[in-house]
Amino acid sequence: MPVQPNTPGNHAARRVQNYHYAILNLAALAEESAAAGKPVTSLNIGDPTLYGFHPPPSLTEACITALREGCNSYTSSCGIAPAREAISREASERRIATSAEEIIITSGATEAADLLCTAILNPGDEVLCPSPGYPLYTALIARQEAVSVPYHLDPGNDWLPDPEEIERLITPGTKLIIVINPNNPTGALYPPELLASIAETARRNNLVCLADEVYRKLLYSGSHHPFASFAENDLPVFTLESLSKNFMVPGWRTGWMTMTNSRLIPDIRRALRKLADARVCAPAAPQFAIPEALSLGNDYLLPVMEKLRVRRDLTVRMINGIEGLSCSTPEGAFYVMAKLDLSRYPFASDEEFIVELLRKKQILFVHGSGFGMQPREGYFRIVYLPDPLTLEMVYHDLYDFLLHCRHH
Ligand code: PLP
Repeated sequence: MPVQPNTPGNHAARRVQNYHYAILNLAALAEESAAAGKPVTSLNIGDPTLYGFHPPPSLTEACITALREGCNSYTSSCGIAPAREAISREASERRIATSAEEIIITSGATEAADLLCTAILNPGDEVLCPSPGYPLYTALIARQEAVSVPYHLDPGNDWLPDPEEIERLITPGTKLIIVINPNNPTGALYPPELLASIAETARRNNLVCLADEVYRKLLYSGSHHPFASFAENDLPVFTLESLSKNFMVPGWRTGWMTMTNSRLIPDIRRALRKLADARVCAPAAPQFAIPEALSLGNDYLLPVMEKLRVRRDLTVRMINGIEGLSCSTPEGAFYVMAKLDLSRYPFASDEEFIVELLRKKQILFVHGSGFGMQPREGYFRIVYLPDPLTLEMVYHDLYDFLLHCRHH
């Protein structure tokens, strides 16, 4: 690559040109609208604390106690031992083979994903990514100048992937596969046979696996099967978890990665340790709340899931009741991918629809192409966290908007 002169407008690194995070792309437009006296109902970001969901009180207490007791120092770069021990114990109970030495506590699952992509990927390496999928991953992969290879989540099959397609997409350059379960943006929960089959494909092709399970406790039905529980003793899996969603403290920036079969990948483990050391540590005080979080069981989630279920059911019913719109019923998290039949409307793309809706009705969703869908497919993601009354008003406004936009 020739050296580029430092001329005005030529200072930023090229690798950031392909770095996109669509969830916040339209936030500036929403702010403009609010500044002009038209506040926006933002259904674009998955932060439960904005909509009246609170963490279990004992978790807050544990964090406050840590602060009162003067836990203000840097911690070990991998995180405090009692938290790593609690994580390892709880993971073992869910048939994830790991140890306290194979855990790194991070600034949210986001930093864990970042450290992993940096530790594993060289320019040109291929990574199998779910499509649609959480845009952090395609952004991180672009930043390493590696290549995202999308595998499809099928809207006709409850947004599940096809292991045979995954197998067909593997080349000698494929290094990593990312599995997000429950998925963002679709809310799909993967059955155990499917996970076993993806694990088998990864095993046959010597892939490293990244299992993003940050929504694993937010389920309406069924149960969560950790991907790493299918790793046996010959598949390296990194499981990503977080306090953000399962415990409703996204601003604490506290997550972790759990390694399974790390003896197979000692070089990646060493690289991770170096990277972790250089960024010093995750926030200290919330780490002291991790053992409390993991000792809570699921009772604290019963009222949360009850509220979310009402919001989900209302969303699915009202969206499917509007002509031109459809969606399936998600089994986890708090997202739904809805589809607008673009052939009936004058929008050139999903994003144009979303921008017009924001301008006319001050409602903000995220366009499906921000998660890897084609712009003409007409998908968009709804965050259904707000209270039922707000959601009803949003869907009435959406109905009204679409009624006035239709081709005549
Ligand atoms: N993974 C997925 C699938 C997510 O949806 C999110 C946040 O929305 C994250 C990771 C990031 O979580 P954290 O707050 O732990 O960084």
